[in-house]
Amino acid sequence: MTGASNVLVVEDEPSIASFISLYLKNAGYTVRTAGTGGAALNAVAAEMPSLILLDLNLPDMDGVEICRRIRKTSDVPILMLTARDEDVDKIIGLEVGADDYLTKPFNPRELVARVKAVLRRTSGERRRDEGAEIRHGDVVINAGRREVLVGDDEVQLAPKEFDLLWELLDHRGLVLTRDQLLERVWGYTFAGDTRTVDVHVRQIRRKLGEASPIVTVWGVGYKVGAERSPAPTG
Ligand code: CA
Repeated sequence: MTGASNVLVVEDEPSIASFISLYLKNAGYTVRTAGTGGAALNAVAAEMPSLILLDLNLPDMDGVEICRRIRKTSDVPILMLTARDEDVDKIIGLEVGADDYLTKPFNPRELVARVKAVLRRTSGERRRDEGAEIRHGDVVINAGRREVLVGDDEVQLAPKEFDLLWELLDHRGLVLTRDQLLERVWGYTFAGDTRTVDVHVRQIRRKLGEASPIVTVWGVGYKVGAERSPAPTG
């Protein structure tokens, strides 16, 4: 291992911050903490962490705003912490660029599992072939450029939406369960929150509209079905 990964914990509740720090240190990570958005941005400017755990509700600045600012200059993995379940749609819907989220109260072992999963995914081992491209009906998805086209129009997908769509298209004709999708796209080996998958599928469908190739297989999961015949022209 080449040096411990450096995690920045941004959390204004001292008890939660020290609880998280303890578990991360025990898992072998170097930990810094920041109690405000301003302190977080200063910490990022001083030394870019390997990963940021970011509380959504901070006294001086919204976590969403901090995430946006960091994303202007860096692809550092960001795992959001939210106090309420309803915030999940906000985080995902706003496409702030967070890599994952956890709802409080969370199991600390799950937190560590997610941190490990996010770092593993972003360490480059999952880099896809440049230029790999899948066409399905009107949808063209390019892995190297991370670009999705419907006809001639580019559709902006959040990172996890892109990965989920790719995974389903790459396994056309196969049904993937929510747990399989969690493991392949989010990297969990932990019994995860499969609602994440449903929320992301909903976003993909909203953005792709009629062109969305994702089919719900009730009680099982999702798949990409057979290609529809082209729409009549004229
Ligand atoms: Ca807070």
